[in-house]
Amino acid sequence: MLKYLTLLVVFALAYAFIKSKSRKILKTDDLNRDSNPAVEDMARCQHCGVHFPLNEGFRSNGLMFCSDEHRKEKDRAS
Ligand SMILES: [Zn+2]
Repeated sequence: MLKYLTLLVVFALAYAFIKSKSRKILKTDDLNRDSNPAVEDMARCQHCGVHFPLNEGFRSNGLMFCSDEHRKEKDRAS
């Protein structure tokens, strides 16, 4: 019986350890997410004028677009 109790305690400790560790990882993720928008470069869509993060945009002939659709529409217009 004592053997099972010991095992149970070991598992409970391991579970608590893993849980606290993953919580710490989530916290650092949240911190990174909070600091990102301020650092992130913004671009303006040449078609509709909306602002969006540079890494989410679509580039065409050195111009930035918010979506692939707007990139295509600009290509069609010119
Ligand atoms: Zn657009």
